[in-house]
Amino acid sequence: MNLKPYAANDLKSLGRIHKEDVSSLRNEFQRDRDRIIHSTSFRRLQYKTQVFVNHEGDMFRNRLTHSIEVSQISRGIARTLGCHEDLVEAIALAHDLGHTPFGHAGQDALHDCMRNFGGFEHNLQSLRVVDYLESHYAAHKGLNLTFETREGILKHCSRTNAKALGDIGKRFLAGTRPSLEAQIVNLADEIAYCHHDIDDGVRSNILDLKSLEELQLFNACLKSVRIRYPKASNEQLVHETIRRMMQHIIQDLCESSQRQIEKMKPQCIDDIRAANHLINFSSKTARDIQAIKKFAAVNIYQHPRILTMSDHARHTITTLFNYFLHDFTRLPEDYRRLKKDKPERIIADYIAGMTDRYALALSARVA
Ligand code: MG
Repeated sequence: MNLKPYAANDLKSLGRIHKEDVSSLRNEFQRDRDRIIHSTSFRRLQYKTQVFVNHEGDMFRNRLTHSIEVSQISRGIARTLGCHEDLVEAIALAHDLGHTPFGHAGQDALHDCMRNFGGFEHNLQSLRVVDYLESHYAAHKGLNLTFETREGILKHCSRTNAKALGDIGKRFLAGTRPSLEAQIVNLADEIAYCHHDIDDGVRSNILDLKSLEELQLFNACLKSVRIRYPKASNEQLVHETIRRMMQHIIQDLCESSQRQIEKMKPQCIDDIRAANHLINFSSKTARDIQAIKKFAAVNIYQHPRILTMSDHARHTITTLFNYFLHDFTRLPEDYRRLKKDKPERIIADYIAGMTDRYALALSARVA
């Protein structure tokens, strides 16, 4: 790995909450990645909705395949910029561990249930999963990950929550930035969902090629694909077009970030933390990304089929929350033992950890 001086360095990590011996085989960020892959919540991502509910079809993205795509995009960007590939991989694979079943509809519903009890935010929940809820290590709670991986997982945080989090919350109070690796994963996440949601949208017949032509970047890439492959099927046209869009956007991100790094001349990770965000799209590409997000919001996320799914998700989550709130002893034993927190928080932990199909089956049984 060709690490630049401003990259995160596994040999200079700010460490783990519980001190551990170093490994002779793997660096600290590789160990983090491996712990994440072996966690229970990572396996559950396979049965959690990204946009389309898992049982609607086997070819759509789920949280697991989304996380793998984010990891792949992040590693490519990190390699180009001389940042730590193992760290971006660990952050990317963990970034959605705290997501509820049923995607954003599920998170909104759980947040509403928790409105009077501190709310629910999937980002903070991802950190709670790796710090606290994973429970198969005998020596400590959670996965005991390095500061750098935890810093990358906690993308946003309110001031109130930041105060309660100690070291990891400090940057939200001080207004400083996380590592470049964390910044890379944040934007790789956007690149991944902008493109795969369009792809799944076409696959599900919610979108067609004609409607996508209103997106300037899509249209430009589609034209060049049609010239090169005049006999391509619609499926091939969509795939080739999305490939080109992603290549264009990733290249733009690398070039634009490289320029900003060269201008700033950071000498170490502390310079990165004190500077403005250095991983950015050019302003033209930032506008393209905004246009894709807006298009997806109107044409996919607000589509009647998706809205029906969201209504069903809300009903399922609310039913489960009220069922356990009515009688806390209905929770499994290992959750009832988490006495440090208020019952509502523990119920939210339990529901957030469920897969789509488990939540559906349980709510049908208790309704
Ligand atoms: Mg994500």
